Amino acid sequence: MPRPIEALVHTDALAHNLARARAQAPNARVWAVVKANAYGHGIERAFEGLRAADGFALLDLAEAERLRALDWRGPILLLEGVFEPRDLELCSRLKLWHAVHCEQQIDWLAMHKTHEPHRVFLKLNSGMNRLGFTPAAFRAAYARLDALPQVDEIGLMTHFSDADAQRAGQDGIAHQLAAYDTATDGLAGERTIANSAATLRHAGRTAHDWVRAGIMVYGGVPDFPEHDATHWDLRPAMTLRSKVIGVQQLQAGDTVGYGSAFTAEQPMRIGIVACGYADGYPRHAPTGTPVLVDGRRSCTIGRVSMDMLAVDLTDLPASGWGSEVTLWGEGPRGSRLPIDDVARAAGTIGYELMCAVAPRVPMRHA
Ligand code: PLP
Repeated sequence: MPRPIEALVHTDALAHNLARARAQAPNARVWAVVKANAYGHGIERAFEGLRAADGFALLDLAEAERLRALDWRGPILLLEGVFEPRDLELCSRLKLWHAVHCEQQIDWLAMHKTHEPHRVFLKLNSGMNRLGFTPAAFRAAYARLDALPQVDEIGLMTHFSDADAQRAGQDGIAHQLAAYDTATDGLAGERTIANSAATLRHAGRTAHDWVRAGIMVYGGVPDFPEHDATHWDLRPAMTLRSKVIGVQQLQAGDTVGYGSAFTAEQPMRIGIVACGYADGYPRHAPTGTPVLVDGRRSCTIGRVSMDMLAVDLTDLPASGWGSEVTLWGEGPRGSRLPIDDVARAAGTIGYELMCAVAPRVPMRHA
């Protein structure tokens, strides 16, 4: 018998969530962001549900090759562009759009001998201070690219740091939007600035030609304080589930797991679940992190071990050895545990949980 843990990818949910991105930004095209192996879902599996996207945005050439191997002939955008000059050859061959965020990348393009003209998105650092040209340097970079025979088309992009949050008295994007509008005023080219948070919250001001929908197509929401995925009608694209493989009866004063981090205050029944941090479940998830047992809400107890965690069965008399435990996603009989609920309890974000599911967890289509 294999260990009873598995991850399921819900193709129909991916398709539904993609349609939600379209509905939010009806006049824009949608890049489905499939970097990091489609946020842990597997590019090939995710493609099944996302093939109606207008394009795919990702990070490295190996992932782009995997998409082309699936016979995807539409647009692909390399979000960080190329990492060394020889990457440009593959960019041409795979017909990729690639971000240009620094002078070195323009130098490489200028030296590149190509028969296939390049299509690039020039990236503005509008305030996140991660990648991109400063507003002061942006127009000169644009002019340099525009003068290169190697470059056929130039798009304009930036990335928001706070579209999911409020900044002191502002809406989280106003300062970056102002910098972007000024730096790009009058420049020709397709535009893409919205991530999921901006698409959900500020589509009217940010959708432009393309939105870049990442977390929302996987059914998570960005780090919104106010609304969960249900509010936005997003469905979980991944379920992580396992089973109870042991049951313990506790008396008051008994402790659970490493460090005796939990002490029972009264008699309790707990289930031991075949899922631990080596499966990608967050070790720092505290007692009280939500789970579903046979579709009913319960919570973790004590410290998460490498291969196991404990859950409270005290109020679930019908559950016990062999019960199904949903760590996140879709449970039995229409039950659901949003990954964001688990992430919040564990002090992280759904993105990290999705990406962290370990290779040892068998993953398959639901
Ligand atoms: N665009 C860029 C440049 C990104 O780095 C990311 C993800 O971090 C996205 C778009 C998608 O963001 P999200 O998953 O929040 O939609």
